Amino acid sequence: MHPSSPNPTMTVAIDGPAAAGKSTVARAVAARLNLTYVDTGAMYRALTLKALAAGISPSDEAALARLAESTEIGLAPPTDPGSPQRVLLDGREVTREIRTRPVDLAVSTVSAHPAVRDWFRRLQRRMAEGGGVVMEGRDIGTVILPAADVKVYLNGTLDCRVQRRYRELQEKGYRPALDEVREDMIRRDAIDSSRSTAPLTAAPDAVRVDTTDKTIDEVVSEVVGLCLERRGRR
Ligand code: C5P
Repeated sequence: MHPSSPNPTMTVAIDGPAAAGKSTVARAVAARLNLTYVDTGAMYRALTLKALAAGISPSDEAALARLAESTEIGLAPPTDPGSPQRVLLDGREVTREIRTRPVDLAVSTVSAHPAVRDWFRRLQRRMAEGGGVVMEGRDIGTVILPAADVKVYLNGTLDCRVQRRYRELQEKGYRPALDEVREDMIRRDAIDSSRSTAPLTAAPDAVRVDTTDKTIDEVVSEVVGLCLERRGRR
């Protein structure tokens, strides 16, 4: 076996609040270890985009659950390395559209509904069947893959996470106000952490990594190290 490829059935769960570095780290870890990267936040965003386009209120749990039943969400590798995972909603690519402010503002309300989470839980567990995944989100280590081989909870100070998201938005060509980015993030983290079903929280057996003063490469090496160590113990 290649030194950097752990057992192909390995499952890695990466959770944490907004802009803690989850996507960048999860994508790089998956590439290094030859595993499939699954961005579950992108999936919640895709359903939210569809609901907004259909005029369904983010508070209407029954309508959202019905909508989910007739929705197909797919993830595909990026066209070039370094770009985000491509997201397909009913066969149409929505990779950029799901990162717009209307979706940012509605996604936490949509994803707080138990019926919506039920549907995603079934879908995400199917995607992880057989292992070989790095799955990233808010409830992966606690609810979706409680038996994951490696669980990591990434966090960072609010200031650091706000700056990170602000720069990301600027790089995409948006001109957001820093205060707006901060308020949106505080609000989204608060809803995600306080919902009754599958709130954002670290699994008791997750390794907590603070990304505030670390480079992406340092965090990636740390997580890859945990995976290789885990493989050694199997
Ligand atoms: O990861 P990202 O910030 O794109 O996630 C968008 C939103 O999707 C989160 O703020 C949260 O409301 C929801 N989400 C969730 N459970 C997950 C992943 C994301 O509730 N596993």
